[in-house]
Amino acid sequence: MQLTKTGSAVWQRRSRDFARRFRKVDRSFHNFHSPTLTDDAIMQVLISESEIHAGIARLGKRIHAAAQGQPLLVVGIMTGSVVFLADLIRRLEMPVRVGLVQASSYRGATTTGAELHLNAAWLPDVAGQDVLLLDDIFDTGRTLSAVVDLVKQGNPRCLQTAVLLRKTGRQQVTYEPDHSCFEIPDHFVVGYGLDYNDEYRHLPYIATLEPHDLPSRTVEGKRYDFRN
Ligand code: 5GP
Ligand code: MG
Repeated sequence: MQLTKTGSAVWQRRSRDFARRFRKVDRSFHNFHSPTLTDDAIMQVLISESEIHAGIARLGKRIHAAAQGQPLLVVGIMTGSVVFLADLIRRLEMPVRVGLVQASSYRGATTTGAELHLNAAWLPDVAGQDVLLLDDIFDTGRTLSAVVDLVKQGNPRCLQTAVLLRKTGRQQVTYEPDHSCFEIPDHFVVGYGLDYNDEYRHLPYIATLEPHDLPSRTVEGKRYDFRN
């Protein structure tokens, strides 16, 4: 899987290839008990551990070449980007500092819209810095676009963005990430930092989670759905 820029024809073809070669894994293989999966749930691996590592290595090389040895402030959007961030920074050879921004969408029980909350308490001073902003997935794009606006207010010298995954057909903003590792079809995915109800972030691969994998649940008065 080559690293490709947003929107290329090659990328779209690869996205279709992904859909064709979903691999199934029986969750018992991973030997964990999940209270949010039905007993016969079988998650399908969309991107394997080795594919992810190869994609991140290519991204690291590309970022390293573009930075020309300049120090980089890598800012991860919490919580989904933490695994991506941890692996990517170990591929970078220039001086690197790390910062975090928390983004969460609150969805009330009776509303359909999700309100985005940003917490910049762990964002270091970005003034005059070369900043690389990371998120796990570009879905509607609202989160990344809002965090870009927030970081720009701090006057960085330059700002680039990278996402591990980019979903096709759901974008609601004009902002385009500078780098993406993988394009995926419109499925809800978990693993490698991405969660469902705060679970599955630790899976070393990206897997799809389908409605039939989940028992219908209401927890503490809130109905959990796939967009949180
Ligand atoms: P956006 O603002 O681009 O719609 O969504 C970005 C955020 O929504 C991501 O950082 C992630 O937290 C969440 N999200 C979007 N799609 C998925 C998905 O397929 N799986 C998971 N686990 N989270 C997702
Ligand atoms: Mg997120």
